[in-house]
Amino acid sequence: MSSQHSPPIVLCFSGLDPTGGAGIQADIQAISQHGCHPAPIITANTIQDTHNVSSFQTVDEHFILKQARAILQDMPISAIKIGMLGSGQVAEAIYTLLREHPQIPVIYDPVLFAGGGSSLAQKNLIDAINSLIIPNTFLLTPNIPEALHLTSQKLSAEIAAQHLNNLGAQHVLVTGTHARKAEVVHKLYHRMKCTASFRYKRLEHEYHGSGCTLAASAAALIAQAIEPVNACQNALDYTYKTLLRAEALGKGQLIPNRR
Ligand code: PLP
Repeated sequence: MSSQHSPPIVLCFSGLDPTGGAGIQADIQAISQHGCHPAPIITANTIQDTHNVSSFQTVDEHFILKQARAILQDMPISAIKIGMLGSGQVAEAIYTLLREHPQIPVIYDPVLFAGGGSSLAQKNLIDAINSLIIPNTFLLTPNIPEALHLTSQKLSAEIAAQHLNNLGAQHVLVTGTHARKAEVVHKLYHRMKCTASFRYKRLEHEYHGSGCTLAASAAALIAQAIEPVNACQNALDYTYKTLLRAEALGKGQLIPNRR
């Protein structure tokens, strides 16, 4: 039985990153730090280090569907956070669940590339993301290369964001880390208009799991009924703090410190 003091629960679908920097571990740590309870489901298992992903295997989609249905029947879920999907079949299974629970807000970080550049999404998965997942997304958090890649855009992150709104993502937060500018500017789009910009001083390092930390934080805040602009601001501030105190635990990118 849920008590009055139970924390909101965030159901997460993410890959397992054994470095502990990105993926489901980032979700669990960030969501817990924001006062929510994470319910984690693994979509894919990866072989990687703090430089790059070398290989991955997705979990059987029927298994994921049964796992998620068991949780959704048992626990009140306040938000669903989606990260790495890995295959079109996994995307279809999650789409089936989203259709069964249209009232739960979905926060989706479209993980298409590993930090080191390896592709984590083939063409059929991109098609499934655009047709099945994005139309059911409340807050989408692509970085600039992901926004351009999803929409087959070459130049304008703004046009890409508008296109993603048009596909059905209600709010699109395009993170600006990959722009070659001194300041990092993240922009939130709603109904094809930029509704907020968030500016941060550029940090000198590269990080393993910053996007996951951001989306998981935003999911935990949206699970607490915080409005999207404030949820994005708080999630970005928190993520920036984890990067300021990030640690060189491996030989590659730094790991955000979410402890
Ligand atoms: N999820 C998994 C399982 C990953 O392996 C990665 C990157 O390697 C990501 C998500 C994305 O990480 P980031 O937050 O650094 O974009």
